[in-house]
Amino acid sequence: GGLLIGAGVHLADLALLPALTGPCAAIGMAAGSIAGPGHRALATVGGNLCLDTRCVFYNQSHWWRAANNYCLKLDGATCHVVKKGEKCVAAYSGDLAPALLVLGAEVEIATPAGRRREALAGLFREDGQNWLELGPADLLVAVHVPPPSGVRSGYLKSRIRQSMDFPLAGVAAALRREGDAIASLAVAITGTNSRPILLEGLDELHGSRLDERALDALGKAVARGIKPMRTTSVPSLYRRHMAGEHKQIRTLRL
Ligand code: SF4
Repeated sequence: GGLLIGAGVHLADLALLPALTGPCAAIGMAAGSIAGPGHRALATVGGNLCLDTRCVFYNQSHWWRAANNYCLKLDGATCHVVKKGEKCVAAYSGDLAPALLVLGAEVEIATPAGRRREALAGLFREDGQNWLELGPADLLVAVHVPPPSGVRSGYLKSRIRQSMDFPLAGVAAALRREGDAIASLAVAITGTNSRPILLEGLDELHGSRLDERALDALGKAVARGIKPMRTTSVPSLYRRHMAGEHKQIRTLRL
């Protein structure tokens, strides 16, 4: 009942998989929202999971970066976002990762010593310059999604151009209800930190009704769990607000 998704699967194919409705809908919604149709026809699951971190001071032409003395991420000595910072804070912007994280996915990595399988969260580091826990000879080959246990899931993202942009903030949620109560809830966010964030502390909501009070508590947990920086052309406060726009969970009809 689980899914095995090869790292070379094209995003356009993934977005159309009939299996990705209901419990695993977040994966199809995320895949279908990545870039534009032309990109999705060629881009792959492994490529999106390993996507380079992004920053408005880094994703520029070489002459632009040279004119600004480069930056910590490559060839420079300072960060233009955190002036005295010692670490790059460029934002991870892959859409698939949060969708897979809320469904408890694992990644399979081929190494010279054999294959290893580990929780997807372990693939990422909070470091915009070295954002992946992959050695130089390691290759991400597949993603395993365990059988979903009665959850419904979804993914929404905020972006400048709805037709093709990277997420300013992207949020995936997987919810299982028992009657009116929240039996389990997982929420993961992309676009705000140098790694995708799987929110902690949501156990407190288990057993509560999914009402305004629970949604307010969820909004606060999002605000506590993320740290958007000035790495995009919109203010970090706006990205914080969009990630915590908890009433959007209604839009997902979970
Ligand atoms: Fe460069 Fe700082 Fe942006 Fe990283 S966060 S890419 S070091 S300007």
